[in-house]
Amino acid sequence: LPATAGPRGKRAAKLPDRGPVSEGSGAPDPIATSECFAEMLAAGGRGDLRYRSLLAHSPVGLATCDMSGQIVEVNESWAGLVGYRPEEVIGAKAADLVRADRRAELGETVRKLINRESDHVVSEQELRRKDGTWVWVTSSVTLERSPQGTPQHVQSFVMDISERKATEERLRDSEQRIRTVIESLHEGVIVHDFEQVLAANDSAKRIIGVPLDQELTLDVMAAAVTVHGDGTRVQDRDRPSIRALVTGQPQFEVLRGVKRPDGELRWCLLNAVPLFHPGGDKPYASVISFSDITERKRTEDDLRESEMLFRALAEEGERLASIVESTSDMVGIIDLAAGEVLYMNRAGRDMLGHDELAEHVTISDVFTPQAERVLREQVVPSLRHSDVFSGELGMRTSDDRIAQVWLNLVRHSDSEGQNHCVSVVGRDVTERRRAAEVLTHQATHDSLTDLPNRTLLLAQLEDALATAKANGTMLALLFLDLDRFKGVNDSLGHDAGDELLVETARRISAMLRPGDLVARLGGDEFVVVCGDVSGELQATAIAHRITTSIESDPILIGTHELSITASVGVALSDGGLAHPESLLRDADAAMYRAKDLGRARLELFDESMRQRTLVRAEVADELAKAIENGEIAVHYQPCISLTSGRVTCLEALARWDHPGRGTLHPKEFIEVAEETGQIVGLGLQVLTKACHQAHSWECQLGEEAPRVHVNLSARQLSASNIPDLVAGVLSRTGLSPGKLCLEITESVLMEDAAVVIDTLYALKALGVVLAIDDFGTGYSSLSYLRRFPVDVIKVDQSFVDGLGPDPEDSAIVAAIIGLAHTLELEAIAEGVETAEQLQRLRELGCHNAQGFMFSEPQPADDITPLLTVFSAAERIRQR
Ligand code: C2E
Ligand code: CA
Ligand code: CA
Repeated sequence: LPATAGPRGKRAAKLPDRGPVSEGSGAPDPIATSECFAEMLAAGGRGDLRYRSLLAHSPVGLATCDMSGQIVEVNESWAGLVGYRPEEVIGAKAADLVRADRRAELGETVRKLINRESDHVVSEQELRRKDGTWVWVTSSVTLERSPQGTPQHVQSFVMDISERKATEERLRDSEQRIRTVIESLHEGVIVHDFEQVLAANDSAKRIIGVPLDQELTLDVMAAAVTVHGDGTRVQDRDRPSIRALVTGQPQFEVLRGVKRPDGELRWCLLNAVPLFHPGGDKPYASVISFSDITERKRTEDDLRESEMLFRALAEEGERLASIVESTSDMVGIIDLAAGEVLYMNRAGRDMLGHDELAEHVTISDVFTPQAERVLREQVVPSLRHSDVFSGELGMRTSDDRIAQVWLNLVRHSDSEGQNHCVSVVGRDVTERRRAAEVLTHQATHDSLTDLPNRTLLLAQLEDALATAKANGTMLALLFLDLDRFKGVNDSLGHDAGDELLVETARRISAMLRPGDLVARLGGDEFVVVCGDVSGELQATAIAHRITTSIESDPILIGTHELSITASVGVALSDGGLAHPESLLRDADAAMYRAKDLGRARLELFDESMRQRTLVRAEVADELAKAIENGEIAVHYQPCISLTSGRVTCLEALARWDHPGRGTLHPKEFIEVAEETGQIVGLGLQVLTKACHQAHSWECQLGEEAPRVHVNLSARQLSASNIPDLVAGVLSRTGLSPGKLCLEITESVLMEDAAVVIDTLYALKALGVVLAIDDFGTGYSSLSYLRRFPVDVIKVDQSFVDGLGPDPEDSAIVAAIIGLAHTLELEAIAEGVETAEQLQRLRELGCHNAQGFMFSEPQPADDITPLLTVFSAAERIRQR
């Protein structure tokens, strides 16, 4: 072997290792084969016959050209390759058999070989067949030189590679098709080999937000896929799963957010499929495909959201249901049309006494018939116009009680706007109602006797009058006042008084006919209203029956047996004109008349009383103005000492200087003033004026100034602050207390003896003089007389009137004067008009006398001269 054999031999020795380069064809490598032959030729030389025959029958085509390019020798295989017999191609130009554009390449190959730049040149070529078609071959071209090194022949070994080329062509086609398909996909597809992106379609770039003319790199891709499927940012711990996209782990349908450079987030479903060589365990590439499901996800999210909302609502519903079950109010659902209770919560079941509400509970089971009627006749119609109805209805409990329930009914409308079902929310107000009833009862009843009070009486009276008017019947009102009740209260205490009132109430009530009314107006005043009375006769008969029941048997209070009487005024409704208040006032007036006429009697209200009542009301109105305008004047009537003839005192008497009617006397207004309470203000005015006047006389006459007498009414006396008032007036006017005498009528003193006695002492403590007025008319108890801190007794005019020839009349006056002497009291005879009376009084030892005989009451200015005359006469007499 020549020197070059070494490296060639080495190369040849390596052959088996090379293995197939193009896989799958199974054919011998044409390049390797032709190179091998070329080596053989070079080694053996053209002349070696062994090789020649070998080559002639080789499956590898062999062609030899001279240096001009003319084919000088071909074997069977080569000729067969181009479709000729060998002898047909001898002499042909080799270049004519290749494509025109590759012919220059042939020349270049030869040039390289000649210049020894290479010892063989391998290339792929197409050769033209005899039939004009082309066949792909691989050729290995070598140069044959003479022993001197002169190039002699060009040898070319060729092998048919058309099959491989066809395969390659097919592959190229299919790859192109795949590319087209990939390009047309909406899905993004990226093929990468873990280092770089091999292919990426436009969709991939669009989804990731890379401009189409820019390259999509793996870094860009990994940076974009940053967000979890649930929308949270990818944390570092999640990096591996993203990296997995580019590290070859298969991933299927993973949801990833893709953040575009402009910040928009797209949601993608990603697949990563690694590619392996057959038998290989490491992927050489990976195909990532991803679809943008942002819109779909949004819809899904919306759906999920609404599903969650629905679930939340359902849960809310459950919660609500449990709240409804546990609330303390009754909650129920009622089908009004079917008359059925569809649901009732625990509070409702408890309220109505049902453990569990049985099926088919009807409205009649739980509502009273009356409430049911209200439901049908009021609630149902009202719910047609409004959504809610509120009201109190009676509900039936399982133990047959009736619970008053305040209900709110709320309409449920179905799709047709019908309101068959209502929600019922209710609260048991039975207790509250009961409490309200108690309160109402308390407000309308007298707590002591439990009889209706004035308020309720007036309401009941109004109804009774309306009924009487409608029926054309008459109605009697009895105003009943116990006599001397104050005395019981004062002497036996309030508890005894209360007992007396309760017993009286009981006795009155017992006498009533069904339908009659009785009320206590306060104090010892009772009112009885009798309906359907035929006339005065029947009314008085009823009144008598009642007073008899009170008076016949003494009332036992503790150990005391009290005989009590009552004064009754009766008024009749006259054919419907009556007003409750006026009827009551009429009976009241009649009752006062009964009192005036000596108590324990019955008076019927008549027309004259009505007139009087009207006049009184008028007087009261005018009097109020008069008191305010200072129209009340004070006149003074002297009282003469029967021993000295001096004016020892002056009685202050109220006069009303009426603008229209001239000077009015007390009988025209004092009674009204007493009734209305105006006497308090009036009395204070009189007291003040009298004290002023007395003080001025005191200033004028000093010690000889007369004592001024001022009358105190019952009302004034019972005012708790009367001693303060008097003290105030005294200090304001500067009058010496001893120059003031307060007159109190005997009846007033006796009526309220126990209370009055304290007041008397308080007044006495001021230093004023006290007198009992109208003595002899008031049934004085002598024991009281002793206890009263009084100084003067005024003998009532009615006794003085009788003084004269009749020794019996003189006897009473004598007795009173005798009593005064005994008790060391000063006696003043009132209303002395005649010398005869004066004479008798002198004889009886009376100290002082007052009357028209000496002087009528006169204004102060007219009195003053009398005082000075008398005192001048006195001074003369004393001299
Ligand atoms: P009284 O306290 O008994 O007063 C005496 C009444 O007898 C006076 O009537 C007087 O004018 C009248 N009178 C005096 N002498 C004679 C006489 O010889 N013959 C006749 N027929 N009457 C005589 P007057 O002024 O009309 O007073 C009537 C009553 O009015 C008084 O009776 C007294 O109870 C009451 N009154 C008068 N002024 C006041 C007052 O300022 N306050 C109070 N609370 N009552 C007063
Ligand atoms: Ca008097
Ligand atoms: Ca009198």
